Amino acid sequence: MSNIYQPTFGVRMHEVSVMSSILESVRNELDSHTFDKVEELVLVVGELTYLGKDQLEFAYEILTRGTVLEGSKLVIEDEAVEVRCDSCGYKGPAEYLSDESFHTNIPKLTCPKCGLNVQVLKGKSCRVTSVKVVND
Ligand SMILES: [Zn+2]
Repeated sequence: MSNIYQPTFGVRMHEVSVMSSILESVRNELDSHTFDKVEELVLVVGELTYLGKDQLEFAYEILTRGTVLEGSKLVIEDEAVEVRCDSCGYKGPAEYLSDESFHTNIPKLTCPKCGLNVQVLKGKSCRVTSVKVVND
């Protein structure tokens, strides 16, 4: 006898899988260090990753249970989009498109100066910048 459980709440699996691979590499890194406790982990999240902060925090709490990271604090820092235009040489922040229906500002991937397509220099990735550990 099996049951099919269909949750009606919206857990976004994306954040969970991203967090899971982040934590795996963090734990590998921590293996080569001696410490008593992990206090804080700083995660830089690029705007273009569209990862939800709440979902990441939720995933962090769940996925760190029973690991060396349990009870540590997750600090999320936003990374704004920075672009470079090969046509006119512009380098800097992206322009934003206000979208009422999304209630958010969406970065435009065209050059603010000449309107051609740009390369994204920053804002596409999600990475750990520091892990604070303590020794009692
Ligand atoms: Zn340009």
